[in-house]
Amino acid sequence: MPGEFDLIRRYFKDQAPIRDDVVLGIGDDGAQVKTDGSSLAITVDALVSGVHFPESTPARAVGHRSLAVNLSDVAAMGAVPQWVTLALTLPTADENWLADFCAGFFELARAHNVQLIGGDTVRGPLHVAVQAIGRLGSRTLRRDGGQVDDDVWVSGNIGDAAAGLRLFEQASSSHPLVRRFLYPTPRVNLGVSLVDWATACIDVSDGLAVDLRRLASASGCGAELALEALPLSQALSESFDMQERQYLALNGGDDYELCFCVPRARRAAFVNWCRDQNHVATRVGRLRAGDSLVLKDNDEIVTRTLSGYDHFTQEE
Ligand code: ADP
Ligand code: MG
Repeated sequence: MPGEFDLIRRYFKDQAPIRDDVVLGIGDDGAQVKTDGSSLAITVDALVSGVHFPESTPARAVGHRSLAVNLSDVAAMGAVPQWVTLALTLPTADENWLADFCAGFFELARAHNVQLIGGDTVRGPLHVAVQAIGRLGSRTLRRDGGQVDDDVWVSGNIGDAAAGLRLFEQASSSHPLVRRFLYPTPRVNLGVSLVDWATACIDVSDGLAVDLRRLASASGCGAELALEALPLSQALSESFDMQERQYLALNGGDDYELCFCVPRARRAAFVNWCRDQNHVATRVGRLRAGDSLVLKDNDEIVTRTLSGYDHFTQEE
């Protein structure tokens, strides 16, 4: 069966363009369109019950997550999110569920000064699609701007959300790893500030390895990841052994951290800037010539199982 990205390319991306105000279309975290005097970033992501979150996920988390994943894509473009629309498919008119969903959705919307401006409400299996629109400034963060030898950075910790999903059935929703899955933090402020630093950026939704590979491939490069440098949380270390931790950090999606490139010559200045601005980011590798993803453990090339989420080739 063709994978998700083959389908997208064959049926949608390869369509002839129709308008010349589309600066960036299919293939990045969001699109960029020109309006009079400025540009907007536009993205939509759908969350399906039983696919993107377990059926027993609290409604509040479904509300938070459905917005967070879209704010994350807007952040990965370097845009300031401003407006969202919401297409909600509900099995029943369960008002308790809706009240909790809204508590999660609007708390995050208020925190980012984002307004819900429209949508659709229909009956069917639980499905939440959110479209987010953000305003772009002087530069757009794209996946395709990286250069060979740029440093590769990742924000926050990775692997936690996938670990949280594994623990979901047996741990409470207040477990720190489960919380990271249910209530991801979109790196909105960081993304907007990275327009001054990053040559390329992607948000980590499907797994660091596969998402870095997408960034590198869009930039016409390969990449190198230093396993010993991966930022793993203490909570992850307490619950999983080294092999599992690395697997989750490389392949687990859902972290919604930003993975981005900064020229090596700006490394020291970037480190200082992160410290001054209280941004947590870790240098995990570099872009390299070629097209492969090379994994290293303390400078030695190693092989690890790599997966990454594809909706159509994924084994259950
Ligand atoms: P992300 O993980 O950043 O949300 P996706 O992996 O969902 O991105 O999608 C990859 C690219 O393909 C994006 O640019 C997205 O807008 C585009 N895309 C996905 N599905 C479709 C579709 N049905 N029609 C048009 N574009 C699509
Ligand atoms: Mg994305």
